[in-house]
Amino acid sequence: MQSLQTSQLDPAHAIFDHVHAAGEPWTHTLKRGQIFRIIDLEGNQAVDTLFYNAHDTSESYSATDTLQRQGSVYLSSGSVLRSNRGNAMLTIVADTCGRHDTLGGACASESNIVRYAPEKKYMHSCRDNFLLGLARLDRGMGKRDLAPNINFFMNVPVTPLGGLTFEDGVSGAGKYVELRAEMDVLVLVSNCPQLNNPCNAYNPTPVRFVVWEG
Ligand SMILES: [Zn+2]
Repeated sequence: MQSLQTSQLDPAHAIFDHVHAAGEPWTHTLKRGQIFRIIDLEGNQAVDTLFYNAHDTSESYSATDTLQRQGSVYLSSGSVLRSNRGNAMLTIVADTCGRHDTLGGACASESNIVRYAPEKKYMHSCRDNFLLGLARLDRGMGKRDLAPNINFFMNVPVTPLGGLTFEDGVSGAGKYVELRAEMDVLVLVSNCPQLNNPCNAYNPTPVRFVVWEG
């Protein structure tokens, strides 16, 4: 599924507009109906993201429910992001990148060892970022709340034989994805700090988050 769709929304009318540093965690609560745009400012940055029901965080984004219901392995315009209870959490309403991954997972100290080298274990990772973001919320959330995530702007194609490959991104500077919240949603982002993966040119970069009232 690849479906390019632009948005008419003007950041001048946004209620929230924030440039987020490369490599850092971020949390934010979206109200139902609000529109959330993520902008890949410099291109090919991976924005690892989890979503929770803001009022009951045992309900969270489910990659399997989402892919099963839409019958496709990629996320783009029209994708409805489903929870582990099958509820619609957010809908992708605009997308100028055209492909977002939800199969590749998040980088971690363990994957740093397996993919790169034993001495990469201690490098900053998305899993550490997720845990730091949750700890700062002080809501009692932790490892058990981490589930398969979305990698906005990341290109992880499935080969004809069913393999997964990490390819150079199809994103570019200024490309964006825009989502409408279908419930009050807690957003947890790791703006991926990975320094060992060529898919971001070994160079994590900032992203911009913009929110509008629906
Ligand atoms: Zn990462």
